[in-house]
Amino acid sequence: MKYLVSSCLAGVACRYNGTASLDEKIQELVEREEAKMLCPELLGGFSTPREPAEIIGGNGRDVLAGTAKVIEKSGTDVTELYVKGAYETLDWARKLGVTCVVLKEFSPSCGSQIIYDGTFGNEKIPGEGVTAALLRQEGYTVISENEFMADL
Ligand code: SF4
Repeated sequence: MKYLVSSCLAGVACRYNGTASLDEKIQELVEREEAKMLCPELLGGFSTPREPAEIIGGNGRDVLAGTAKVIEKSGTDVTELYVKGAYETLDWARKLGVTCVVLKEFSPSCGSQIIYDGTFGNEKIPGEGVTAALLRQEGYTVISENEFMADL
């Protein structure tokens, strides 16, 4: 298996608000069995729909280092579930032997270049989500759907 991809990019309605972020090229990879799709947040124990969450006090690397948190809009600390989802995703990447991971931009799990700034004010900052950070730390190539499109 070459790719691991975000389920929402393959058309699964697993985003916090019950929608997908369909990207047809990504969906085709899954249909051709070149990619396995998964959702780190569902692997972490969440269901859909769920509250929006943002990283407060840093980015995904800081969350893994214990110096930033993932907080839901109502204030609940959900850091542990985000970290669990990241490690579950890493297990799958290892099991499948993938060489490239394509994750949905802006997500506190999957964002690989840009995430929300933690104020819930719709402001974005450079940074990566928790799963993207862990996979990169472990040596995987992690790109967003935008970079994947640019590669074709
Ligand atoms: Fe999509 Fe990733 Fe969010 Fe799951 S965690 S809905 S795969 S962006």
